[in-house]
Amino acid sequence: MNKKVLIINTGGTLSSVAKEHGLTPGLTTESMLQELHIVAGEAELTTQEFASLDSANIFPEDWARLAQVISRQRDMYDGMVVIHGTDTLAYTSSMLSFMLQNIRIPVVVTGSQLSISNPVADAMENLRCAIYMAQSGCPGVFVAFNRKVMLGCRTSKVRSLSFDAFDSINCENVAEISSIGMKINEHMLQKKKGVFRLQDRYCPDVAVIRLFPGIHREVLQMYAENGYRAFYIEAFGLGGVPFIRHDFISGIRGLTEQGMTVLVGTQCLYEGSSLDVYETGRRALEAGVLQAYDMTAEAAVTKLMWVLGQSDDQQEIREYFQLNLCGEVSVPS
Ligand code: ASP
Repeated sequence: MNKKVLIINTGGTLSSVAKEHGLTPGLTTESMLQELHIVAGEAELTTQEFASLDSANIFPEDWARLAQVISRQRDMYDGMVVIHGTDTLAYTSSMLSFMLQNIRIPVVVTGSQLSISNPVADAMENLRCAIYMAQSGCPGVFVAFNRKVMLGCRTSKVRSLSFDAFDSINCENVAEISSIGMKINEHMLQKKKGVFRLQDRYCPDVAVIRLFPGIHREVLQMYAENGYRAFYIEAFGLGGVPFIRHDFISGIRGLTEQGMTVLVGTQCLYEGSSLDVYETGRRALEAGVLQAYDMTAEAAVTKLMWVLGQSDDQQEIREYFQLNLCGEVSVPS
């Protein structure tokens, strides 16, 4: 029997057209139907318009609504494809991974660097890969791009122009397409299977602070005074935070003592952080920070928002960050 695939369009370059103010999403799935059918093979397609947005204009409330749309229809389809702008695609795929934990069907997010109306675009190739993966029966949230399928919560946009715009960070690809077809790395698929429950609560009051030499710790209190509840700090190297002169660590201690959550990761794209190696990391741990380990920035930020939506309790929040919920992190044992 032909597999049923739902295509949900949120906008982005794939569906964009040139307008007076520049490229802007404008094509509906209806107007892309011919192209969609060319790449769908045997799959039985249904299309749904969710939004028509440049992904710079996607907000956390869109993630929650998208998760609701997917959850509501999950039993009616073998898989789903979400068409999305590439700029914030990795945030969406990360948050969907948290909100849709234990989903039984593949949810595959894709986009392209050129509009589907451009004859040399990557759009058809990416859609072909996404629709194929959506029929695979592999449960989870994935990103399909440039003949690779990656875990949604491990993906980052690493190139702004190339077709190879996304990498799977600190984690193998789930699948690759070559002349021998699609090869799925079975061990990359999530084994543990709990009961699916839509978990769409989140708290958007998260600040991201990228350290640089000379950063003033006052910036932390400025955020705190403006209602922020959690911080993701992109520290140096393995997770170093300064503690002499501009004593940033004492600023952090001030936050944790007020009951705020501070998560520390690294500015390095690859290989993650490990705060217990250097004094600059250990002192941060002593000040009460949590570790992001090898999470992407997108996963770190969305996990913070999601965890804060589940609990206000500092101990519970701490425990969530010791867990690998959907493949987003390798927590050292
Ligand atoms: N600005 C576009 C977006 O993220 C870029 C793209 O889709 O490639 O919506």
